[in-house]
Amino acid sequence: MAFTALSTTFMFLKAAMNKKELLTTGQAGDGREKALLDHVVTTAAKGNPLSVLNVMDTYAKTSSWFMNIGDDKGPILDKALDKYNPRVVLELGTFCGYSAVMIASQLHNEGSKLLSFEMNPDNCNIARQIIEHAGLSSKVIVVEGKFNERLDEAKNFLEEMNSRHFDFVFIDHWKDRYTPDYLLLKENAMLGNGSGVCADNMGPIMGPADFKKYVKTHPEELETSEFKSSAEYLWWFPDSVTVSTFKLPTKL
Ligand code: MG
Repeated sequence: MAFTALSTTFMFLKAAMNKKELLTTGQAGDGREKALLDHVVTTAAKGNPLSVLNVMDTYAKTSSWFMNIGDDKGPILDKALDKYNPRVVLELGTFCGYSAVMIASQLHNEGSKLLSFEMNPDNCNIARQIIEHAGLSSKVIVVEGKFNERLDEAKNFLEEMNSRHFDFVFIDHWKDRYTPDYLLLKENAMLGNGSGVCADNMGPIMGPADFKKYVKTHPEELETSEFKSSAEYLWWFPDSVTVSTFKLPTKL
């Protein structure tokens, strides 16, 4: 156990030391994302989302650290999905598809779907194959590109889904994009009264300082609960997930 924790920490530090690569390309630079795909496809039970998530968690703890929401913070996202029971969902930051699998496996409403944005084309391919392996391809569309540059994709999706807004948004991409992309959603009326906004990495050490401040200073717009936990696969690193309900201003 202690060795596993040490090894995960080492693999986290290795990724963190290559931060420039990670922040520029969205990959750690050592091929771990492709290795994860190979491992999932050969190890996880096909068509079984829980098996896929378990395999991804175990691999992250024993082989390579990954920036998945993981099994410590995952239950917070699970509970939020339970609460909002969404039909039309947006994710910012697919990475390798861990949270997309988690979200899509909880979409129980008829015709419900997740639209997920990922800037790295290799990650898109990896995520699509992992989602396919979990048997959830019909519920997830992975869009290659940055949300702010591909707003039309989000608008078209809403039109296809016959919805004016997203019922639930999961924000888990670059920290400097949390606030601007949230504001884009708001300005484009892509959030409705009662929509859920869940944000990862809102803990005290890393994370989007400006978005944390925004959430704190706009309680009338975002009714928020913070759930404290630890960063993915790192028990010693405090982190939080916030779950907010978006409120439209009441007309006077
Ligand atoms: Mg995250």
